[in-house]
Amino acid sequence: MPEGDTLHRIALRMQPLVGGLVEALSLPRGTQPTAHLVGKRIVSIEARGKNLLVTFEGRWVLHTHLRMNGAWRLRARDDRPLSSRFPRGTVVHLATATHEALCTNAPTVVLARAGSLRFDPLASLGPDLLADEVDLDAMVRRLRAADETPIGLAVMDQRLVAGIGNVWKSEGLFARGLDPFAPVARFADDELRALLAHLHMAMQANVDGRAHRRALVPARGGPRITRLSVGGAREGHAVYERAGAPCLACGTRVERRKQGTRSTYVCPRCQPARSPTPGSAA
Ligand SMILES: [Zn+2]
Repeated sequence: MPEGDTLHRIALRMQPLVGGLVEALSLPRGTQPTAHLVGKRIVSIEARGKNLLVTFEGRWVLHTHLRMNGAWRLRARDDRPLSSRFPRGTVVHLATATHEALCTNAPTVVLARAGSLRFDPLASLGPDLLADEVDLDAMVRRLRAADETPIGLAVMDQRLVAGIGNVWKSEGLFARGLDPFAPVARFADDELRALLAHLHMAMQANVDGRAHRRALVPARGGPRITRLSVGGAREGHAVYERAGAPCLACGTRVERRKQGTRSTYVCPRCQPARSPTPGSAA
């Protein structure tokens, strides 16, 4: 499932479209008219949490959310004529004079005037962990509003902090040695801040392409980025989808546990159960 870092990487890859004039825009599954945008300039393409926003001249915004299987692809046109046949599952075809982009299998595709949506899913979105200016203290305050919620669910609540999905949830909590099933109230502000700082660093490294085949492993003196030996981890993950394999930090078997409707991967030794702080009301 694409998470915030993947969306930011897609947004970076799509930048060649920005500044170009729309030569074609079609939404094969949708009923919204698009002809009025032909000839208009593409003003910006940006990720907000797990959403991708393409903004056109005249404040029109194309919003896609990729959920589990959605994808965006871009290719240079190299003087080729525009595609007229699209692959199965195409939900957006967008072209300028130089580039052509296809979005497939995204369940959310909305074209609307900025600010005009009656129900705007972006309005309730929390601050983006991968925004240019990230305010970690504000994010800690938002997590605090979910004090009763297990931290493994709270960090994935896009209304609190946008961008973290199932993979980074498991990887981040493991790297910081935090118990995913303990409510947010059992963690100090400093721990929440360090978790968010860590995820910001790790996800940003992934956007920049620096984290390829690296996993984040807790170590004495704090977490560090460890380059994994061949076969040490699946796609550079320390715990995600490594149930039954030895923890890269301590050798204990990694466990897969159900949390909400998803799986959480934990090392029971590196992430000991967090009991209520003695003397606190939690
Ligand atoms: Zn361990």
